[in-house]
Amino acid sequence: MVVGRFAPSPSGRMHLGNVFSALLAWLSVRSAGGKMILRIEDLDPDRCRPEYAAQLRRDLEWLGLDWDEEQTPQSQRTEAYAEAFARLDTYPCYCSRNELHAASAPHASDGAVIYSGTCRDLTAAERAAKTRRPAWRVRVPDEEVSFVDGLQGEVRENLARECGDFILRRSDGVYAYQLAVVVDDALSGVSEIVRGHDILSSTPRQIYLQRLLGFETPEYAHIPLLEDAQGRRLAKRDGDTDLTALAKRFSREEILGMLACSAGLLDENRSATMEELIDTFDWEKVRTEDMRLPEDVF
Ligand code: GLU
Repeated sequence: MVVGRFAPSPSGRMHLGNVFSALLAWLSVRSAGGKMILRIEDLDPDRCRPEYAAQLRRDLEWLGLDWDEEQTPQSQRTEAYAEAFARLDTYPCYCSRNELHAASAPHASDGAVIYSGTCRDLTAAERAAKTRRPAWRVRVPDEEVSFVDGLQGEVRENLARECGDFILRRSDGVYAYQLAVVVDDALSGVSEIVRGHDILSSTPRQIYLQRLLGFETPEYAHIPLLEDAQGRRLAKRDGDTDLTALAKRFSREEILGMLACSAGLLDENRSATMEELIDTFDWEKVRTEDMRLPEDVF
């Protein structure tokens, strides 16, 4: 059975871009008669708030995006992450943010700093002399990780060259998204991950962790980010694509229809019910680029 999930971070209101990822994840699972899991990714105590999580659930329910199971929120699953963390080859890293972002540091294509390995081979005495609380990184080999994405085709990354040893636990003790997501997906039997293209660059790291931990790799489909009719990426600052604002101007069926049309699932921008979209869903129809909202949304 297909097991899919939607894993939002409750760090703000849902905007149409989040709804779009959720809808495609849902349609894929529901059209296959599978099981849908909701997981609130509230790892970061500085950014996440319970009221956003409550609003997220209400928004999903209003849209008709239901779930069969809700996994325990990430903030309450520290033990599972600690257990996985203990099985991995990690080391403490004492570099400050400024040291990591030094002007000369090489950057990956997504703008992230490629870790140079400064703390990789410190001796016990060198570690003992440090006063800063360390973050913990996992060692990565100079090898390519590759996988075939349902929409993007073959993706390859050499973690050592394009990312470097990456953080699994922050200096404040919070486990990193990369580790939590891998543990949660595996322990809940997720077989299919449909999510935004903005997370594609994390996937090779997640697959690497799955292999180290002996977990199966699910199927992936990274969907292009939704853009406005002029081709600009939607952002949270666009209050007009906040679901609450949209719900005042459009019915649920109109919102579902405009998203389905943007994805290539409907030929024209018209109302559609969830049942119709489930019955006619087909990955072959989903566009691989240029997912744009119709003009009249704005
Ligand atoms: N929590 C992440 C976000 O809201 C999504 C993680 C995922 O789908 O793997 O951006």
